[in-house]
Amino acid sequence: MLLFTPGPTPVPESVRLAMATPTLHHRTPEFEAIFKETRELLFKLFATDEVIMLASTGTGAMEAAVTNLCHDTLLSVNSGKFGERFGKIALAHGLKNVEIKHEWDTPATVEEVVEAVKANPSVDAIAIQISESAGGLRHPVEEIAAAVKTINPKIMIIADGITAVGVERIDVANIDCLIAGSQKALMLPPGLAILGLSNGAVKKVGEGKGYYFNLASEIKKQRQNTTAYTAATTLVIGLRAILQEIESQGGLGKLFCDTARRAKATRFALEALGLHSYPNTPARSMTTIDDVNAKEIRDLLKTDFGVNVAGGQDHLKGKIFRINQMGLIAPYEMVAAVNAVELALAKLGRRDFDGTASRVFHEEYFKTALKKEEK
Ligand SMILES: *Cc1c(COP(=O)(O)O)cnc(C)c1O
Repeated sequence: MLLFTPGPTPVPESVRLAMATPTLHHRTPEFEAIFKETRELLFKLFATDEVIMLASTGTGAMEAAVTNLCHDTLLSVNSGKFGERFGKIALAHGLKNVEIKHEWDTPATVEEVVEAVKANPSVDAIAIQISESAGGLRHPVEEIAAAVKTINPKIMIIADGITAVGVERIDVANIDCLIAGSQKALMLPPGLAILGLSNGAVKKVGEGKGYYFNLASEIKKQRQNTTAYTAATTLVIGLRAILQEIESQGGLGKLFCDTARRAKATRFALEALGLHSYPNTPARSMTTIDDVNAKEIRDLLKTDFGVNVAGGQDHLKGKIFRINQMGLIAPYEMVAAVNAVELALAKLGRRDFDGTASRVFHEEYFKTALKKEEK
């Protein structure tokens, strides 16, 4: 079975083997050396002033970001389940919340965020997904962050990059907190979350808020290559292994480039079958198709063709399917997935099978290789 869900994503063999080594005690020079190396690799990936690892899923990091960086009103963008979650976290902690809400195919605009900031002077933090996984869309986070900073540089910009960090280079010039989670683009089992912080964010954290998710205590400890509480040792070992694996396979630049090519080639291949890409601004993390037969296609992919893709949640249940693009995915695996979609459509009597998906994928993905030498 090919696992093509946008989280969890497949864990590469080298990473699984690294995590099969004996567990270390976390308060030892041996583990601290691993922690230090992992931090150094994370600084390259995040390009932020500080990075913090937490033993938690991504939602824990979202909560830590909100409680430590918002003291009054959180402006959050809800174009899907994960954006909605930021608002719920704020309210659960007694913070005020202003929400910009859209259908799940529609990204936020710079103008409406600017307008909301001007209309609500108590807003001291903004939370938004870079890639909103509910409908597979990309928000213009960098542009929004830049515009907000020109109005008030003190407003903290919290960017959920759980399906973006490891997918594309994020410009963090105006981002104060960039969040990643282990089981999405980082190709690890669930249970580890990472926050990249700006110097401004570290300053605002101050003494920190809360207990387990008190970022002040973690910043202090992690600068000494240890953690406030027991580190998720096995996952940290896995994180070092995947970051090393990415380096050995050509580095982050190649990973980002391959992901962009693959996402585009997949979308073109499926559109060539007459299918429709759901989001108005597709993220590179996943390919999302809305279709009347979404449920049947997804079921057939699994039962008849050995490809496991994700469906939709809430009002999009049975209406969309989502194919993962995150991670080190060989093009031949993605060809198998788009070909399986074409087979499923043939089985449903929607169109005759003629190999279109595979052909279009190859043409787009290997465009440069197929190009004739200019004389
Ligand atoms: C998966 C996901 C989350 C939640 O992460 P958990 O690890 O399930 O807590 C948050 N934001 C985005 C964009 C996600 O894709």
